[in-house]
Amino acid sequence: MAAAMTDDVPSPSFTTIQPGNWLGLLGGGQLGRMFAMAAASLGYRVCVLDPDPASPAAAVCEHHLQAPYDDEQALAELGQRCSAVTVEFENVPASALRRLAERVFVRPAADAVAVAQDRVFEKRFMVAQGIDVGPHRLVDRIDDLLRAHDGLFPAILKTARLGYDGKGQAAVATREEAVDAWSKLGRVACVLERRLALLHEVSCIVCRGADGAMTTYPVIENQHRNGILAVSIAPARVSPQVAAHAAQLARRIAAALDYVGVLCVEMFLVDEERLLVNEIAPRPHNSGHFTIDACAASQFEQQVRTLAGMPLASPAQMVPAVMLNLLGDLWFRRGERREPPWRRALEVSGAKLHLYGKLEPRLGRKMGHVTCLGASVADALERAVAVAAELGIEPPQ
Ligand code: ADP
Ligand code: MG
Repeated sequence: MAAAMTDDVPSPSFTTIQPGNWLGLLGGGQLGRMFAMAAASLGYRVCVLDPDPASPAAAVCEHHLQAPYDDEQALAELGQRCSAVTVEFENVPASALRRLAERVFVRPAADAVAVAQDRVFEKRFMVAQGIDVGPHRLVDRIDDLLRAHDGLFPAILKTARLGYDGKGQAAVATREEAVDAWSKLGRVACVLERRLALLHEVSCIVCRGADGAMTTYPVIENQHRNGILAVSIAPARVSPQVAAHAAQLARRIAAALDYVGVLCVEMFLVDEERLLVNEIAPRPHNSGHFTIDACAASQFEQQVRTLAGMPLASPAQMVPAVMLNLLGDLWFRRGERREPPWRRALEVSGAKLHLYGKLEPRLGRKMGHVTCLGASVADALERAVAVAAELGIEPPQ
């Protein structure tokens, strides 16, 4: 694009969008809400496109286009009003992003989102880049399952598209179970992955500007329950070598995708030093919520800055942190609906509560999170254990 420009016209990738202008957001869940709050702090106005009248982001945005993500008219209006548009979750149709990109900056670009929204593309991309991933086989026909290596079992069968929080996945002990599960998943394109024994799960959040500048947050240690993130600990309790390797992998992936924005790389640590890339998310990530309270700038501020062509902020972590996710389950005790005991939880020193304004608590639904700050990881963990006890959720490990 820059090559076609004359000298007196700056390359659009270096254009700065000044505060006061409109930024657009496709998707209005909690990630969009935290983006909108960061954008407002920097003086931007935010317009969100989301079909849900009770969208958590819409409640804090100046304008809400309430329409489906592929609604032509709403997309046109978003493109007209805004100087740049970003996505809140990876399942926004890449075609909608391509159309928007004809008139405004879209960051991250549709091509990068397309890799992250399809596990088959994602695996092919990692393999092509020479990045280690776990043993797997791409599945598009029954033969792929019948011919899969015996060593892949026990396995997890994951649909290529539209999975999140463990949805669209089946644990399968044998080939027969895999064939059966594939039918139940609708015989769509899938990835069959060997179920690995994990020492730790970690993630690394990398921010990359339109000028190619990059920065990473400290590596995060993640604990999942039922396929949903439950706890994030930052910095991760891994060796400096593993932390450096994780950051290097995240940078390599962001650069290879020519990515602009905030990207999260989820990784498995399978022994003391071996990291395998699990998946990537083309946006701020649940494991990075601690950055709001613990870092010089949050992952959402970085998302705003990269979108607006502003310089990256320092990701320096000022204080160790442990984040607990708050699921809708917390609102139900012994079958009774209750309001969780916030007062008691907030009496724990260093506990910071974030609620997403969702009206309807449901089992497994992400309603908010608590970040516990401490003088050390051990101290933050102790406080998180205290908060978990007050709220009646499983303690972090
Ligand atoms: P998503 O986050 O999109 O639901 P993931 O592929 O990240 O899907 O899977 C969710 C969680 O399931 C992972 O964070 C991990 O705890 C577990 N998991 C996924 N794949 C494997 C695997 N191959 N071996 C062991 N555990 C896995
Ligand atoms: Mg995941």
